[in-house]
Amino acid sequence: MDVGHYAAEPGVISASGVPEFEYNLALALEVRAELEKRGLGVRLIGERGDYAVLHQRTRDAQGASLFLSIHHDSVKERLLPQADRFSGFSLFISRFNAFPARSLACASRIGKRLRESGFVPSRYHADPVLGESRPFADEANGVHYYDNLAVARSAAMPAVLVEAGVIVNREEERSMRDPVVRGRIAQAVAEGAEDCLAKEKK
Ligand SMILES: [Zn+2]
Repeated sequence: MDVGHYAAEPGVISASGVPEFEYNLALALEVRAELEKRGLGVRLIGERGDYAVLHQRTRDAQGASLFLSIHHDSVKERLLPQADRFSGFSLFISRFNAFPARSLACASRIGKRLRESGFVPSRYHADPVLGESRPFADEANGVHYYDNLAVARSAAMPAVLVEAGVIVNREEERSMRDPVVRGRIAQAVAEGAEDCLAKEKK
């Protein structure tokens, strides 16, 4: 499990001024705890904030059954003044990954578990005007194709990037900071990962 960004370039700055890396780390630690509770082994990558080179993240994941990258979302700079309009989770996979079908299966299961826990997928990235026209791979479960996504592309195993929520939205940032909400997200992500890994073993 990859903690998105690093100390020198900590990602998005939230509505209240907190760097994304801090949110990613807090959530990744919770997801790890949930996965370990389910008997799954977890290797954390980038938790010390010292991974500047993206391909080293996937290199260090060698041998894993799933590469999970944890992030929190933003919007285009010109939309930041209206950022409170945008919310929800997004999942990304790459068709250039070595296992596109398994990546999609894992992302769909994670999205399904998040929805069952009451979280709503974002439509921003797929929007042709406001967003980035990223095509849906599984619209109901919030999964998009992002073929050139470096970590998903270079991973030697199925890979999913999770944008847990939009932290430039003031209300959603408050929610992402809430330990109860974070716990529910972590549980849903771990359940989804467990579902797809269990299916793979059969
Ligand atoms: Zn990020």
